[in-house]
This record gives sequence, C-alpha cells and structure tokens, in this order.
Amino acid sequence: MNLKKSALNMLRDQRLRPLKRLGQNFLINPEAINKILEAAELNKKDLVLEIGAGTGLITQAIAGKASKVIALEKDPRLCTLLEKAVEEEKIKNIELIQKDVLNFSLDSFKGKEYKVIANLPYYITAPTIRKLLETPFSPVLIVLIIQKEVAQRILARPQTKNKKTSKLTVFTQLYAETELIGYLAKDSFWPQPQVDAAIIRITPNNRFLGSSPRFKKNFGQIVKAGFNQPRKQLANNISCSLKQPKERVARWLKNNHIEPEQRAESLAISDWIRLAKKFSKL
Ligand code: SAM
Repeated sequence: MNLKKSALNMLRDQRLRPLKRLGQNFLINPEAINKILEAAELNKKDLVLEIGAGTGLITQAIAGKASKVIALEKDPRLCTLLEKAVEEEKIKNIELIQKDVLNFSLDSFKGKEYKVIANLPYYITAPTIRKLLETPFSPVLIVLIIQKEVAQRILARPQTKNKKTSKLTVFTQLYAETELIGYLAKDSFWPQPQVDAAIIRITPNNRFLGSSPRFKKNFGQIVKAGFNQPRKQLANNISCSLKQPKERVARWLKNNHIEPEQRAESLAISDWIRLAKKFSKL
C-alpha cells in the first residue's frame, strides 16, 4: 500500500505542527497499517469507530475495507485538513466527528455491531480502554497501537516473569481476551516517540457485562485498594484505602484463600472476582 497523497501532504503542511500534549505521533509505516487491518479482520459489512484519526492514513485504509468509518479527532486543525482530504478523495463512507473520545457517548452504538481501531495517544490509553469495555455497548473487537510497556502490562499475568500487572491488566481481563499482534519500532512514527509501540487486539467477552452494578462497584473498589501502592502488601493497602483494621482485612483475605502478605500483582483474575463477590463480608 502506498501512503495516501493527502495524508502525506498533511504531514508536510506547515500548519500541522504536531502537538505533543495530544500525543500526535503519526503512523508512517504502511506495513503496520496492513497489520492493523488484518488484526481487525475487516469486511465490507463492518462499522468501525476510529479514535484519533490524525492525518487520516489509517482512516482511509479502513474505509477501503469496511462499510463505514466513524472517525473521532479532538484537534480542530486536523479535522479541517482531514475534511478537505476526504472531500478531495471523494470518500463517501467516512464520518468525521470533532470530539474528545472521553466525552463521546457510545449510546449511538446501542444494538449495533462495531469494531474499534486506534493509534492511541499515551495519556488516554487507560481511560479509553476502560470506557470501551465498561459500556453496555462495547465493540466486538478492538485493535490498538499503544506504548509497548503499557501493552506488556495489559498482557502480563501473575506468573509472567518481570512483567508487572496493574489495575488496567485486571480490568481488561475481567471484560476481554487480549493478544499481542506485534511490536512497532519508534521509526514507524513521525515525529518519533521516545519509546517503541505495540499492536494489541482486545476481544470483549461480555462475561461480566450483565453482572450487577454492586459487583462492578465492589470489583472496582477492591482492585483500586489492592493496587493503591503496588509494592505494599495487600492487607496494608486494603486496610489503609478502605479504612478497616488490618487484622480484620487479614482474616478476610485468609478466608478467601489469599495470604495478607501477598502483593496485588500476584493475584489472578479469579482471586479478584472472588474478593469482589465476598466484599460485603469485609
Ligand atoms: N491515527 C493517526 C495515525 O495513526 O497517524 C493519529 C494517531 S496519533 C498517535 C493520536 C491522535 O489522537 C492525534 O491525531 C490526536 O490529535 C488525537 N487525539 C488526542 N487526544 C484525543 C482525544 N482525547 N480524543 C480524540 N482524539 C484525540
């Protein structure tokens, strides 16, 4: 695939000084775009939400393979340039929306099957993933380019050597299956970021979407408390965060087959689910 002319022109456009605060590192590696399209298993019936359309290179590639792309972009400068490019290229199946993804309602996807593709800015990676997974209208498939380190965290499991799990690992595991598609070197982007990136695929499994609001609230509270200071022991973290006597927390953990001295990163998803279910007994 050749880089689309309009996107290249945008990259050369003097008005387009990439904004670091918006995580503007544009993908310039055509092979990476092919990998994303393959990972998303696109077909002509697909509705795709793209987050952070940027210069529109990925957007245009998706439009060629899917039925429709709804492309979100926060930066008004890029939106103006992209609108012009879409018009010039006479592409009919791209709907461009100037909006912050974190303020964008997914309600319009109610009852619709859709996929998400995004080369995400670092600063919104975690909230965007949680938004997509916690909504009752979650996509059937999510393909993301994110920082390599963050991808490794999401994919880490307690038994993975030298890989630390985090709150994001646990939340992602509750709602989805995750897999690594591949790594991308810094020079796949312009301007080059400080770190390498990874492409990951997240497949929501809807196992816990129907669970009660109380379970979800308890799950959120216990995971947040457990990871409060990841190097600290679980009993200390939970006791401090939830303002409960340490002995009581230790007894509750033991009753649920967890040693109070364990650290949050050593717990499997089944442990967190058990703790959330028994939260009222704490
Ligand atoms: N998709 C393009 C590509 O791969 O070349 C751009 C990717 S760049 C890493 C991230 C894009 O997300 C930028 O265009 C940036 O302006 C946009 N962006 C940043 N924060 C955003 C937000 N909160 N909501 C929507 N778009 C955002």
